[in-house]
Amino acid sequence: MKIGFIGLGNMGAPMAANLVKAGHEVTGFDLAAPMPEGVARAANAAQAAAGAEVVITMLPNGNILRAVAGEVIPAMAPGAALCDCSTVDVESARAVAEQAQGAGLGALDAPVSGGVGGAAAGSLTFMVGGGEEAFAKVKPLFEIMGQKAVHCGGPGAGQAAKICNNMILGVTMIATCEAFALADKLGLDRARMFDVVSTSSGYSWSMNAYCPAPGVGPKSPADNDYTPGFAAELMLKDLRLSQQAAEAADADTPMGQLAAALYARFVEEEGGEGRDFSAMLPRFEKRGRG
Ligand code: NAD
Repeated sequence: MKIGFIGLGNMGAPMAANLVKAGHEVTGFDLAAPMPEGVARAANAAQAAAGAEVVITMLPNGNILRAVAGEVIPAMAPGAALCDCSTVDVESARAVAEQAQGAGLGALDAPVSGGVGGAAAGSLTFMVGGGEEAFAKVKPLFEIMGQKAVHCGGPGAGQAAKICNNMILGVTMIATCEAFALADKLGLDRARMFDVVSTSSGYSWSMNAYCPAPGVGPKSPADNDYTPGFAAELMLKDLRLSQQAAEAADADTPMGQLAAALYARFVEEEGGEGRDFSAMLPRFEKRGRG
């Protein structure tokens, strides 16, 4: 397939490299990042999109996505599909889909989970919003870049699934970390705490698969001095998107709101930037109630 790929940063570069390895013809454009081996460099976004059957974008935020979509949509061939894999706000995803569909193109929002490791290994999970036809067209590419693609519904449904999932993740990680800090102060051994909670009703992915306590449970970023993993500032981005969406939809999300505020403090005032999001545990360890 002839593919245009725009945004070849930490995630985009390994995703594009996997498409090349599978035999696809990929033309890329990025304002700064180098092209991975086998990806032809275009002079601009429109040139990367011209003649492509599928254009994939992997960009930092919704405003940048809207600007790039404005350049590539007029350059795309009728019947081609625009597939945005960035994590952006639901409104931007829907606006871009509308613009693309208005130009006779297929449009998907397909944010991912799995991080840089998953992008390199081709084991991402795609959460996809948009039409059946566009989903069927891009599905073979999801199968190369990932292990699972769930068609969640119409335009914006992929972003909705992503931010709801990550709102649960942020809240449960905080709850798991504060419970470990309380257990410490009550004199409860962390390994015993893990043994009990990981097999009781307090279990969660944060506890069982990504335990924030070093030396306890399966290997996680906590065992590597909280080197990401999933950086706290990326969690903050997703929590803010969840609250932006909650405001727009008039949804009551008090725990999500609190999680966003706590990660904002951690990242912006307490040196959390560049640390794994599970480094909330050493943050709580150092504090009392006051
Ligand atoms: P990144 O900053 O490494 O990559 C973004 C790339 O976009 C950069 O190379 C930048 O030069 C390029 N870019 C910016 N504006 C551009 C423009 N106008 N035209 C062309 N290129 C432009 O970010 P990343 O970590 O690769 O993340 C990309 C997206 O994936 C984000 O939306 C992020 O939230 C999401 N995401 C990231 C992770 C992760 O672990 N890194 C996990 C899941 C989802």
